[in-house]
Amino acid sequence: MTRISPRVLFLGIDAMMPEVVFDNLHRFANIRRLCATGASCSYDAYTYGYGSRDNWLSIYTGLTPKQHGCKNNIMTATGKVPTSRDYAQSRPFWTVLNDFQTSVGMWRGIITSPPADVDGYMLCAEPKTLPGMNRPTHISLNTTPAKREILTLIEGELRRPPLPETLAQFGLDWETFKDNVQKYEYIISDDFFEEGVTYFKQETEYFTENMIRMQKAHPQDVLFYYTSIMDLVQHFQVHEQSLERIKRCVDAVDAAIGRFIDEIAPDNIILLSDHGTESFGSLFPGMPVEVQREAFGMRDKAVWLSDGNIAVHAANGSFLMGAHALKGFCLIHGKSVRQTQIQHMRTVDFYPTFLELLGIPVPEGREGFVLDIFEKPLINVSRLIHVPPFEEIAIIQTNEVAREGDTINAVFLENRFAHITVFGQEKYRNAFLKNGRVSRFEPVIDAVVPMEKLLAFDKVMVGNPNPFDAEHPYVEIDLK
Ligand SMILES: [Zn+2]
Repeated sequence: MTRISPRVLFLGIDAMMPEVVFDNLHRFANIRRLCATGASCSYDAYTYGYGSRDNWLSIYTGLTPKQHGCKNNIMTATGKVPTSRDYAQSRPFWTVLNDFQTSVGMWRGIITSPPADVDGYMLCAEPKTLPGMNRPTHISLNTTPAKREILTLIEGELRRPPLPETLAQFGLDWETFKDNVQKYEYIISDDFFEEGVTYFKQETEYFTENMIRMQKAHPQDVLFYYTSIMDLVQHFQVHEQSLERIKRCVDAVDAAIGRFIDEIAPDNIILLSDHGTESFGSLFPGMPVEVQREAFGMRDKAVWLSDGNIAVHAANGSFLMGAHALKGFCLIHGKSVRQTQIQHMRTVDFYPTFLELLGIPVPEGREGFVLDIFEKPLINVSRLIHVPPFEEIAIIQTNEVAREGDTINAVFLENRFAHITVFGQEKYRNAFLKNGRVSRFEPVIDAVVPMEKLLAFDKVMVGNPNPFDAEHPYVEIDLK
């Protein structure tokens, strides 16, 4: 008899916020149970200058953005948004799995078009025009010609995702709105993008039921599913004080996990987001609005609302209420995984850890580690994470706060296992400390940083203010 339980069910939920999950575990019964006996954490993702595609390519291949060449959703080599061809030679996990006799069922991964011929199947999604309509209103799943026959098992129709309302739909333009914020700010209500939440729930149910049906008919060793819709919802909904509508999205994920457990009982379950989301208004705790304006990079397209939120005029004509946050969510559950709060995880550690879970050797050229979560003899012993004593790094503020964030980001990514202290202007203290990558803040008094303070650090960096020197986002000062 064919076994329908997959060895791994891997759910990729773009931008799912770790704090929303961990702070509300009482509400998410299935995720709570998996966390109580599995390994989980909020981990350091690629953000501030990096997009979702950069993160997922690192999750797929175990390569850093520098190695796979996708930065801010663009392939540096071609200047274009990546396709599956751009990284086909970089050994994405499904290629490695197939080489070790492990089949995959891939459900609409980001950047997996055109779909690859794999042992198993790879399904991609495209806009679909129904008979009698003159524009696409629905989503259609497609695959490689050899696998087309499995599409007959897909049931139901899924609409294309809704978009948040635009200023034009309220009969306003940006100039009118920003000059009369008090008059119009009620537009950005707590349920501003409720349609997105409703859609997320429908989408999750559509895929869950189709995945279960497909797995029963065509069982695969590893099932992967990806959705970008929680990211979309949160950009326009993260200003809601209670985050209730975002919690409802996690409710849908939790219910889906329950269905998968009941119907196909996966041996291992992975739940992963590529980064989080934070509201713009939360970036500057306790800072006066005029100082917030100095610190906020998008100040020219932003309005400050009376409840403390900041709304940015989005490219689509709507109100962007938040951006990607530094931490992603990771949960790995299975028999060979012990209960632990994962320490020191970065995006590039996912791939080696995932392969270790399946007992598969990690290909060469990966900088990430196998995380310390296993209760079994390791295949990739030499790659197990070993945490050295942390370095102490000082960064002296030499740019406006928003650009200094890029410096901090670059220093953080290139210096793993380090604490970062920022020497900056006192009025920006809270903005720097809100950055999860900054451990300490030291005020610069009278524009002087005493040498004896700097000598206490292993390294001292200053941001490079030259925008024409992208190769060197910061400069190290040699104190010897
Ligand atoms: Zn993302």
